Amino acid sequence: MRAPFGVLALQGDFAAHATAFRDIGVPVREVRRVAELEGLAGIVIPGGESTTLLNLMRDEPWFEGLRRLHDSGAILAGTCAGAILLSREVRPRQPSLALLDAIIERNAWGRQVDSFEARVDAPVLGGPMDAVFIRAPRFRALFPDVEVLARHAGEPVLVRQGRVVACTFHPELTRSRGLHRYLADGCRPVGATRSALTRVARSSSGLTAPSI
Ligand code: GLN
Repeated sequence: MRAPFGVLALQGDFAAHATAFRDIGVPVREVRRVAELEGLAGIVIPGGESTTLLNLMRDEPWFEGLRRLHDSGAILAGTCAGAILLSREVRPRQPSLALLDAIIERNAWGRQVDSFEARVDAPVLGGPMDAVFIRAPRFRALFPDVEVLARHAGEPVLVRQGRVVACTFHPELTRSRGLHRYLADGCRPVGATRSALTRVARSSSGLTAPSI
């Protein structure tokens, strides 16, 4: 049987992620204890509040467990607060897993537009998708090994470095299942054509560190 995909279920929008995986027939495990990381194909760290998540993660060696899971060949994905947790450097400063070579700033879209929806073109996820940004962070710098998979207003909003995938929006709150399909398929582009893949390769340049 196919290894389940995990959803970190300590806080935030984990139930919607679990539903999204189930919708596409992928077995899911809601993970509440470090021991439950064993045997997963990957895990999603959901959106929510990264400070709250960090507090809840003090009870058990979550950072060690998640790094071990990554080392074992599993995919680690983070959406919104999850992307904050994965990034190497967080502004304002807070602890993070540092598995993604990126600098990320929390709540960085400004007060008037704290939350908004946008149509984001994500060729590797099978085409344009609706994206919900809720007090979303912004990538301030990406180091060269980080690939940009989608942009909004010219800025990277979905990125990947090897088996680490991070997006600053909430894909689970829309009907699009592209990201969940992409993760469950081991980061294989969803129904992509050659021209779509070429477009992604071209869009991978841009924001690089330490230019800012
Ligand atoms: N603003 C939250 C944080 O800093 C992230 C928001 C979200 O996950 N929707 O953690």
